[in-house]
Amino acid sequence: MESDHTAHSHDDGGNVDRTCPQCGEASVTTFWHHDRFRYGTGDSAVDLPVDLPVRRCASCSFEFLDHEGERLRHEAVCRHLGVLTPAEVLGIRKRHGMARAKFARVTGFGEATLNRWENGLVIQNLANDRYLRLLDKPWVVSVLKSLSAPKLAQPQGPASSNLNKFRVLNVSEQQRRSQSGFRLRLAS
Ligand SMILES: [Zn+2]
Repeated sequence: MESDHTAHSHDDGGNVDRTCPQCGEASVTTFWHHDRFRYGTGDSAVDLPVDLPVRRCASCSFEFLDHEGERLRHEAVCRHLGVLTPAEVLGIRKRHGMARAKFARVTGFGEATLNRWENGLVIQNLANDRYLRLLDKPWVVSVLKSLSAPKLAQPQGPASSNLNKFRVLNVSEQQRRSQSGFRLRLAS
């Protein structure tokens, strides 16, 4: 079946720079090209099919691919690997209505890591992909929120309660702990 414009609702139209990079005319149109590209190496290498939006300048006939094409290729790789696409990763966080910083705090993911997954710079490994899928369930996030709630709710609480705990430790135990903590920091 031939691909056509109406089959693709993912074209981000207005966000694309429609000016020709070759001649500078604002006369760039799009047509869809069914393509295949090689992914992987050796025995595990495969040819993945993808429909790519080719931009064509009506003035000088220059044809090129932009970030939309890169995004679609990345999605094809994700589908091949059986992991969530960047848009799907982003969608999970958005469905919970959380800013990236808060989502990072609740889930334990690094904010920079989330940014890389959501923008397709890095593909999450299988364990993280499975964790992300669980995070799509509201009750899973509820459990996680309940875990981090004490720290978030009472910023002054842990400091004073820790002080109380330290008083019951003997000095050598405290020293051992601070020394091992110091070594860990040096090692990292
Ligand atoms: Zn042109």
